[in-house]
Amino acid sequence: MTPSNGDEESCCWVIDHLQEFLHGEMSEQEADAFRRHIAACESCMDEADMEAAVSRALRRCNRTVAAPMQLRTRVVQMQVSYRWQA
Ligand SMILES: [Zn+2]
Repeated sequence: MTPSNGDEESCCWVIDHLQEFLHGEMSEQEADAFRRHIAACESCMDEADMEAAVSRALRRCNRTVAAPMQLRTRVVQMQVSYRWQA
């Protein structure tokens, strides 16, 4: 992977804090930094998209347990085929 803006450390931070961001548990300042990073970093944006898709699907099902791997894979595949059509 090519580090964008020599910013590998930020990528680690984004991945580490993805759940906090998705659940709105971040401070405004952190959320801003988070959004700025994923707007500029394609690999983190992909990662955030998939996590968000899984979170949305789970919330829709009213489930608080972790997604079984099979469901997770299916959601990710749906996301991919949706992108191909778009
Ligand atoms: Zn990144």
